[in-house]
Amino acid sequence: MIRRTWQAAMIGLARSATAKRFMQSARATSFLRDKYVAGADISAGSARAVALIKGHGIRSSLFFMGEYVDDPALVAETVGHKLTAAEALAAADLDIHVSVDPTQIGQVVTPDEVEGHARTIAGRIGALAGNRQGVHCLMLDMEDASVTDVTIALHDTLQDAGLPVALTLQAYRRRTWDDMVRQVERGSRIRLVKGAFAAGPDLAFQTQREIKANSRRLIDLMLSSEARERGFYPIIATHDTALHEHAIAAARHNGWEPGTYEFEMLLGVREDVARDLAARGERVRLYVPFGRDWWPHAVRRIGENPRNAVLLARSLVT
Ligand code: FAD
Repeated sequence: MIRRTWQAAMIGLARSATAKRFMQSARATSFLRDKYVAGADISAGSARAVALIKGHGIRSSLFFMGEYVDDPALVAETVGHKLTAAEALAAADLDIHVSVDPTQIGQVVTPDEVEGHARTIAGRIGALAGNRQGVHCLMLDMEDASVTDVTIALHDTLQDAGLPVALTLQAYRRRTWDDMVRQVERGSRIRLVKGAFAAGPDLAFQTQREIKANSRRLIDLMLSSEARERGFYPIIATHDTALHEHAIAAARHNGWEPGTYEFEMLLGVREDVARDLAARGERVRLYVPFGRDWWPHAVRRIGENPRNAVLLARSLVT
């Protein structure tokens, strides 16, 4: 209950334009930016991606920040940054893996243009990937419940067009079991997260206990023998070490070799755990945000754990 209330408050702060203006201009908050964000531009993002692979064998997904973008000019600029990210990753000979929120490429202002923008980005990734080894894709992040259907439909359309695309599904949503069954049948690439948004009890599980139980059930489906036979690619995106061990046990039991599935975590959150998994031979990726619009991303991270209140308090009093 405390956790849900805290998370809802932080989601409110993430969406507040006033808080964003204030926090992004305040020098005291810069340590939050430095904790969760690689830097202001693509050179900082790709430099961090290179350092992660060279230092720890950890792959990256680059994310140019921004969410719920309501200015068409900014949508166009964001698409440009996603293309630049793909090119920088290709130039560095890394996985061409770029994460995108549908609301940053027009879902709020120009919904008719979202598919075109997504096709442009995924098409460029496909062209740059050519015959290179690696995991190359446009990864669609999943936002609040109002955009779930359009995000899944966008994924399916791009996938049917043969473009390199992957999709995020959230364990806190009650519908996700059915969505996951469909995606396993389609042999998709799916990133499972617990969910960083709030929704009522009709749509979502409310307690951590329920969300965790649903995560385990979904991991069992994602790492089943049937999913492996269909060419499904599971991505377990959590910092929850009990879920990591659950996934590894399911993988071993059902004949998944390390490297045929992956773990993904966020830059700045429990990176020691990511390094340990990589050292054990697991495929690990970090979600590496870059750009200037860092407040919504950082405050969502604060919202993930009431104990992070101390980080927020520090940013307000220093
Ligand atoms: P938790 O139970 O929250 O955490 C597990 C452990 O990690 C706990 O010990 C906890 O204290 C620690 N921990 C977790 N977060 C933090 C933190 N910020 N600071 C310090 N310690 C922490 N959500 C969406 O709704 N849509 C998305 O598209 C999406 N994409 C994501 C992509 C990736 C790669 C990841 C890793 C997460 C993404 N999320 C997304 C966020 C996700 O839904 C959760 O809010 C977040 O991952 C926290 O849940 P957890 O699974 O790590 O478990």
